[in-house]
Amino acid sequence: MPLKVFNTLSKKKETFKPSKGKNVKLFICGITPYDFAHIGHAKSYVQFDVIIKYLRYGGYDVFYLQNVTDIDDKIIERAKERNEKPIELARNFEKEYLKDMNSLGVDSVTKFARATEHIAEIQKQVKTLKDKGYGYIIENDGIYFNLSKFPEYGKLSGRTSEAAEDAVTRIDDSIKKINKGDFCLWKKSKPDEPSWHDPWFNGGRPGWHIEDTAISEKYFGPQYDVHGGARDLVFPHHEAEIAQMEASSGKKPFVKYWLHTGFLNVKGQKMAKSLGNFVTIRDALKKYDSKVLRFFYISAHYRSPIDYSAELLEQSKNSLERLNDFVRNVKDSNEKDNNKLIERTKKEFLKYMDDDFDTPKALAVIFDFVKDSYKKGGGKKSYELMLEFDKIFNVLTFEEGELDKELQKLIKEREEARKNKDFAKADKIREDLRKKGITLEDTKEGVRWKKLK
Ligand SMILES: [Zn+2]
Repeated sequence: MPLKVFNTLSKKKETFKPSKGKNVKLFICGITPYDFAHIGHAKSYVQFDVIIKYLRYGGYDVFYLQNVTDIDDKIIERAKERNEKPIELARNFEKEYLKDMNSLGVDSVTKFARATEHIAEIQKQVKTLKDKGYGYIIENDGIYFNLSKFPEYGKLSGRTSEAAEDAVTRIDDSIKKINKGDFCLWKKSKPDEPSWHDPWFNGGRPGWHIEDTAISEKYFGPQYDVHGGARDLVFPHHEAEIAQMEASSGKKPFVKYWLHTGFLNVKGQKMAKSLGNFVTIRDALKKYDSKVLRFFYISAHYRSPIDYSAELLEQSKNSLERLNDFVRNVKDSNEKDNNKLIERTKKEFLKYMDDDFDTPKALAVIFDFVKDSYKKGGGKKSYELMLEFDKIFNVLTFEEGELDKELQKLIKEREEARKNKDFAKADKIREDLRKKGITLEDTKEGVRWKKLK
């Protein structure tokens, strides 16, 4: 079955066909490093990590580009509050973000690109937009994109340029704009703000949206395959990107497939720094294992919202433990595999992943497999299948799967004793194992062991 993805642009599931065979050029909006990243950010980056791992698993050669917005109003403000240099603040939180991603097993990004290292590309695009009549100068203020020159504005979000009026951020603010929704491409810097030499003012800095298109044009050209981000970026950010790139290149579509992740909610409300209801990744990892967090994210579809709650995290922890138990048990098992079951499981798994990366259904297939394998037996091939799935999900823990030889021997001796109806000896071995941190569970199919926590 061909891979299908839900495209925000067409609002439909479409067959995935990159422009050049198996090569995929993919861009995901990165962070603005002015604070620690929270678990809402982590949701989006983990879910894209799984999507990209699945594409690579399917033989796609993915170039995953992610920008770092290291110059922005929020960085300037925060740096002022803390009496730091904006660029130092940005570098510090970028480092912390990379640490968080590392803890979460997010390792699929091919290249990180900082805005401040692409000022030449940004200025070039601003100049093109200005030369082509899309950008206009407000003296002593900035260069703005004229929305009335780009009638297709709104095609991604289904919103109009009038709606953009309520979406302007501080940098886009000016009473002299032609249309209220016009957004800033380049801003004249105030004396105490970071500033780059430019042909228009006495030094300026980039607007919010322009870095993405300047960076993606540099690495991918004016058109590419996939652009993703969290849902709140659809408008005005991604809409502005389309306007900038299609206006400056004259080529359509700027991006073929637009993918957006749903929010992480707390009691029904989106988790956001501005709402003050956020939990940093760092704090969440003090309470939960990173694999549990990953499992929690992929237990929901990437486009769906997910509620962050202690109960759901606890549930994730228990579910994941069931998978780890199984892996531990089949790892060194000599039992025969059920080839039919393995084949069917793999087919079903791929079917759901090919259906717009339906991770909850793919996980359900894995849980059915585990249940059936306990009934029908499972060995080396079952273990290998779990490893194969985990190349995509990266949620399992194998280290604990190694039980040392002495303990394995004891388990065998106990089984022998049970067979010979020497229950006193069997019970004694069970007790000895328990003291060593191993519990045993006798099932119809044989004994299963588990490490005590
Ligand atoms: Zn972006």
